[in-house]
Amino acid sequence: MNIILFGPPGAGKGTQAKRLEKNRGLIQLSTGDMLRAAVAAGTEYGKKAKEIMERGELVPDEVVINIISDRLDEDDVKNAPGVIFDGFPRTVAQAEALDKMLAEKGMKLDAVIVLDVDDEALVERITGRFTCAKCGKGYHEKFERPKVEGVCDECGSTEFTRRADDNEETVRQRLEAYHAQTAPLIEYYEKAGIVKKVDGMAAIDEVTKQIEEVLDQLA
Ligand code: ADP
Ligand code: ADP
Ligand code: ZN
Repeated sequence: MNIILFGPPGAGKGTQAKRLEKNRGLIQLSTGDMLRAAVAAGTEYGKKAKEIMERGELVPDEVVINIISDRLDEDDVKNAPGVIFDGFPRTVAQAEALDKMLAEKGMKLDAVIVLDVDDEALVERITGRFTCAKCGKGYHEKFERPKVEGVCDECGSTEFTRRADDNEETVRQRLEAYHAQTAPLIEYYEKAGIVKKVDGMAAIDEVTKQIEEVLDQLA
């Protein structure tokens, strides 16, 4: 089963993707995470992507298309029961390229799960977001604090990081990019009849429940 978790920055895509990895063995393919890894490693395209990401703009289509295409050819992905696209596609050109590569690889999309969240809630979610530096588990100052203050629930690490682009100004720019370039994809996938809307304003556990219901219906 291959799905897209779709929604604006801060909607909860990463949070829910990690839960689906655990519950269903699906593999999360986050272009944002892959790009941040490239930036940290200082690779050629990482250097180019860094400034674009810090401005809150989209990196060129061909960069993310190539990253995803290569990732789909790796053994862990090929052997998994399915993948969760998180943060990809973000433009119509990316969606068209995805359709083409999935067809070539004999794969198909089963659903595009859209997390609906108001813009003001997104700003609060993103400016309060932090992540375990060791295992990548996501947290929020108000909505998802570690059970023991300062200690990661998953791995016990006491080091946390915040993303360079998780400040209010960049968030506004990212939201603008979302509404202008990414939201039109909902219509693209509606034509394919695979859009499933979920109330992303609900509490984290409730959103998980709604997504699980959608996936149960597909299975
Ligand atoms: P969020 O989950 O908060 O929306 P991401 O981690 O998905 O953020 O993306 C962070 C940044 O990485 C984006 O603002 C953009 O610059 C870049 N990026 C990630 N995925 C894509 C993509 N599919 N196309 C273009 N740029 C991308
Ligand atoms: P995305 O991957 O879509 O950018 P994240 O999953 O990283 O979003 O979530 C953004 C922030 O909001 C995180 O700090 C996360 O803990 C928090 N969060 C996620 N889902 C919810 C929710 N349903 N209600 C409140 N906070 C949430
Ligand atoms: Zn951790």
